[in-house]
Amino acid sequence: MAVIWEQLQQYQPVAMKMLANSIEKGRVAHAYLLEGQRGTGKREASLLFAKSLFCFNRDGYQPCGECSNCRRIGSRNHPDVHWIEPDGQSIKKGQIEALQAEFAKTGVESRKKLYVIVHADKMTTNAANSLLKFLEEPHTGTTAILLTEQLHRLLPTIISRCQVVSFQPLPPLLLANRLKEEHIPPHLAMLTAHVTNNYEEALEWSRNDWFAESRKIVLQLYEALNQNEVQALLFLQEKWMPHFQEKQQVDMGLDLLLYLYRDILHLQLGQREHVVYCDRLDDLRQWALACSQKRTINNMTTILQAKARLNTNMNVHLLMEQLILNLKGGTTFV
Ligand SMILES: [Zn+2]
Repeated sequence: MAVIWEQLQQYQPVAMKMLANSIEKGRVAHAYLLEGQRGTGKREASLLFAKSLFCFNRDGYQPCGECSNCRRIGSRNHPDVHWIEPDGQSIKKGQIEALQAEFAKTGVESRKKLYVIVHADKMTTNAANSLLKFLEEPHTGTTAILLTEQLHRLLPTIISRCQVVSFQPLPPLLLANRLKEEHIPPHLAMLTAHVTNNYEEALEWSRNDWFAESRKIVLQLYEALNQNEVQALLFLQEKWMPHFQEKQQVDMGLDLLLYLYRDILHLQLGQREHVVYCDRLDDLRQWALACSQKRTINNMTTILQAKARLNTNMNVHLLMEQLILNLKGGTTFV
């Protein structure tokens, strides 16, 4: 289903407001540069902007989404709207020249023309120089939209010819909602949205078996800790260590454990909406009742200390054993 303006506005209020204003006030710039991480909605915004510009039944700044222009733009079949994407690793000079040749003609159906360059930072030097000339002599009715995840890789001369619109990384709750729209189960969506604020990365983690297993092991470790020290140390030996082998993996495991303690703290503070392990709410509530806030905060400090020690040369097995003893005893690293 195509994204509508309101949806994108929730994620990117500032960027979408800028684009909406230029359409509503009839002040469309010659070139826009949409910059921001992957998955922040730059492509969707370009598509909506193009539709708004060409729509036959526009309502304010919003395209109808139904007219023949909206539909053809949606299916990338509109003769006056062109998309340039990297051909292999880069966008080549020939691609920009072909675009220029196309734009030298008047609009096929209207006087307006629009082109979108996806991954504009992947233009070769020659391509970038050709584009620069093109941007320096704008044709009336021509609009350029450049997209990039790496603003610093673009020529400053190109950036200065564009109106820069920044797309912000998504806050966890919004990112989780986007993941749920992709049918990711809520408990995985919430957790991955905290592990990264990059949509694509979060989507990959949500579909990663190792990650799903990690989550289970972290919950099981907590349960073992609730039993007794011996159980927890045994669990460490048998389940945790074989699963979290590389330092990066251990670091991830500790992050997941930290989120679990943070959930308990959130419940102790009455902040249910922030809970990440949302499928285990009943257990979490019990665990939150079974210990004090002070103890929870103490345990979170201990996990953060363990994370810091991972970067030293300390033996990981010893580190984890010490962590378990500290969590069980309510003490911190010395
Ligand atoms: Zn329309």
